[in-house]
Amino acid sequence: MSQQPHLGIDLGTTNSLVAVFEHGAPRLIRNAHRAVLTPSVVGLLESGEVLVGEPARHLALTAPERVCAAFKRWMGTDRSVQLAGRSFSAIELSSLVLASLKRDAEADLGRSVTKAVVTVPAYFNQLQRAATVRAGELAGLTVERIINEPTAAALTYGFHRREQNQRLVVFDLGGGTFDVTVLEIFEGVLEIKGAAGESRLGGEDFTETLVSDALARTGRTLELAELREPLLVARLRAEAELAKRALSEARTSSVRIPDAQGRVGPDSPTLEFDAARFEALAQPLLERLRRPSLRALADARLAPAQIDEVILVGGATRMPIVQALAAQLFSRAPRHEVHPDEAVALGAAIQAALVADDQAVSDMVMTDVCPHTLGVEITKEFGSRHVEGYFMPVIHRNTTIPVSREESVFTRHDGQTTVSVHVFQGESRLVSENLALGKLIVDGLPPLPRGLEIILRFTYDLNGLLEVEAIVPKTGQRYATVIKQSGAQPTKEQLQAALAKMQALKLYPREKLENQRLLAFATAALRELDAERRAELERTLDLYEHWLNQNDAAAFAYARGALIEVLESFGLSYREEPQ
Ligand code: ADP
Ligand code: MG
Repeated sequence: MSQQPHLGIDLGTTNSLVAVFEHGAPRLIRNAHRAVLTPSVVGLLESGEVLVGEPARHLALTAPERVCAAFKRWMGTDRSVQLAGRSFSAIELSSLVLASLKRDAEADLGRSVTKAVVTVPAYFNQLQRAATVRAGELAGLTVERIINEPTAAALTYGFHRREQNQRLVVFDLGGGTFDVTVLEIFEGVLEIKGAAGESRLGGEDFTETLVSDALARTGRTLELAELREPLLVARLRAEAELAKRALSEARTSSVRIPDAQGRVGPDSPTLEFDAARFEALAQPLLERLRRPSLRALADARLAPAQIDEVILVGGATRMPIVQALAAQLFSRAPRHEVHPDEAVALGAAIQAALVADDQAVSDMVMTDVCPHTLGVEITKEFGSRHVEGYFMPVIHRNTTIPVSREESVFTRHDGQTTVSVHVFQGESRLVSENLALGKLIVDGLPPLPRGLEIILRFTYDLNGLLEVEAIVPKTGQRYATVIKQSGAQPTKEQLQAALAKMQALKLYPREKLENQRLLAFATAALRELDAERRAELERTLDLYEHWLNQNDAAAFAYARGALIEVLESFGLSYREEPQ
């Protein structure tokens, strides 16, 4: 069998994309709706079938309880979400998005695919990375390599400019995550110098400031409104999103306040937002973008003046206030050399080609760094006092990977036969302020006097996964663990059960997906109309729904045409091919 295609996937908080590297270049693959962006939204239909992407996004307006979005924010945590009464983890929801992209790639390439490079925010921690690998597994994909999103964007930039020598900043603000990465391109070698960010900060937070402000101005609070008027809030979010985007183009925009059923119309109350008000509301968020940017520069030991280019990635960098901040931070007008939505997926496909030793990239080399400090808990001695809870770094942040580092620890008591090694990640000197990654129990030690040496070896691989080994030089004993998951490692049975659960869920048939999108769109649109037009749309919609479930292609095509015609006669633009 010929080699598998080199697939790269950008699994975003808001949007996901899949790209393939073939004939010497990367290219994006379109989904069933002929779009390259697939919203990272999952819906569960009454039939038990799963909708991913655009149709699920429309479904959210009429049945928010069946739909989940932005679950990437919960990767690496134990949190689960209820979807139509069933419980799903972020890993499971992500696996459904991956399965949908995999299917789109298979439809495009005309063959099955089982391997891919998947991107994560540079600032993702070990648990979040491991969760991403697991999501791939559940989707039937072997994740060949996890790479950092800004690194992928830099690869796309560097792919076309291999001969140049430059120092770059990639400023990546997506829907839910923020990464800033400093790197150098020198004769085809792409070297990441420093990375920093926040894994819970993105464009959605900017939308949320508009939502909260709109609710406050109408005498509500978000918490209460979400409980009492969920349809209003769901629709208000969509309205605020539009207003936010409008403010990327114009000085003012407005938000219509939906009624309790989530409807808006010509009589809806309207609130004005201008650029100044938005900037004031967003100020705390802009502040949070500043700190990691300065830290990444400092870690790369570079001053702003030494940066040649600032590259903007992520949809939220379309906001003028964010562009102005980036310009100010790096004393340089940002460039729009790479497409902010597409660069990451294309870079992932280039990485897949690198992994496969593709000829077309044989002159490119890339090195990356680990974004966080990794270490263990130690006890400090202050005279005769022993104080627990201190953090001893083993691998410092922004060390070039892959890397292996050793530090020694010693038994504290005579006759001590067990040592438990607690592994943490973070920058604080106290473990309580860092993230616990797991523990390694070293037992069966010979009962010797205190001070027996145990060497801890940390190995951080190219995927950003950490292996911890403990070696007892005196006896030659060796213990090892790979940090994979919070809490208990899943057993083989648990993994099987998770796989079975996901396989029992069927993605909605791809060839009919477009029809589902129209159904969800028209259902949401219906609610906006006055009585007369509503009745007209409802008639055509009923007909459409009827033929959707029959086996009569001609009748269905007719009903579909009629429905689109009615929608268009009402000025509702349902586009066959988005973008
Ligand atoms: P992710 O990689 O997290 O999936 P994207 O890079 O697709 O995210 O960016 C999504 C974010 O970009 C959303 O918060 C969206 O509101 C925002 N966004 C997209 N277009 C615009 C625009 N024109 N103006 C402001 N924000 C935008
Ligand atoms: Mg992204």
